[in-house]
Amino acid sequence: MPRLAPSSGSRGGRRREGSLREAAGPGPGAAATSGVPATLRTIGVRPSRRLGQNFLIDPRVAERIAALVEDSAEPVIEIGPGLGALTTLLAATGRELTAVELDLRLAEALEARLAAWPAARVVRGDILDQRADDLAGGAVTVVANLPYSITTPALEWILAQGTRVKRAVLMVQREYAQRLSAAPRGKEHGSITVFLQLHAEVRVLFRVSPGAFHPRPDVDSVVLELVPRPYPGTTAEERASVERLTRAGMGTRRKTLANALSRALGLGSTTVRPWLEAAGVQPDRRGETLTLGEWIALARHEPRVVG
Ligand code: SAM
Repeated sequence: MPRLAPSSGSRGGRRREGSLREAAGPGPGAAATSGVPATLRTIGVRPSRRLGQNFLIDPRVAERIAALVEDSAEPVIEIGPGLGALTTLLAATGRELTAVELDLRLAEALEARLAAWPAARVVRGDILDQRADDLAGGAVTVVANLPYSITTPALEWILAQGTRVKRAVLMVQREYAQRLSAAPRGKEHGSITVFLQLHAEVRVLFRVSPGAFHPRPDVDSVVLELVPRPYPGTTAEERASVERLTRAGMGTRRKTLANALSRALGLGSTTVRPWLEAAGVQPDRRGETLTLGEWIALARHEPRVVG
């Protein structure tokens, strides 16, 4: 893990409100991770499972994540800031920061906390309804302790923003991260695995235990770094075809690939079997056993249906 948290003292750049450590000391960073249950009671929020509300209460974890955004002037979009455990640390450098929060009571409380940093703002709403273009200027880093309920759509959202997002630092459930790096044949391998390989480099940076959150989740979490990039040697059209084919070929797990594609694409077996054979893929394989290279071969050999 070559890029893990440099000490706050060694970080350069503009810092209007003192160092990260100061911000997490008696300042707003500490306020956002301490006394979380009492703060939630005060503002009338009972943590919602549906909204994936597990708030960070360990200031060291919050600092470690914030320190991953090394350039203190780098603009940030934060998904689901909650009470601001990460937001206050990120805003304390004076950077442009837009935090998108769906829970209106949390958004209001956070807005008051961010008043000291004019370049930081809260947008009320669902991140999935926003466009990075409207949220911030230039290429941004997305930061989130992701609400687990929207992990896959949030990853898809990040990658749909194109070159506007240059990097993402994300906390996700450990099991989910294992799915992303699962080899074909593993039961965890799925179309999201292929989708991410196609559009990004993903690295697991460190693990976070359940005790770092309130309420305490049942599972471990990890912090990931995701850097969007097109899979080398592929065209945009090929990547779009791979996405369409993986959705068609992996949706029905008990079916062979030939049957799944035949059904989903409305093609007869006299079309599908020769196609798969030409791409070097046995028609009786199941979709989740294919490597990304094999999906790309399928996309390249896909028959053009005329009519
Ligand atoms: N960042 C805070 C922290 O680390 O303590 C809170 C993280 S909590 C896991 C997830 C946050 O995302 C909650 O504040 C929740 O209300 C918010 N949220 C859930 N769904 C959302 C959505 N679709 N768009 C924006 N925020 C969302």
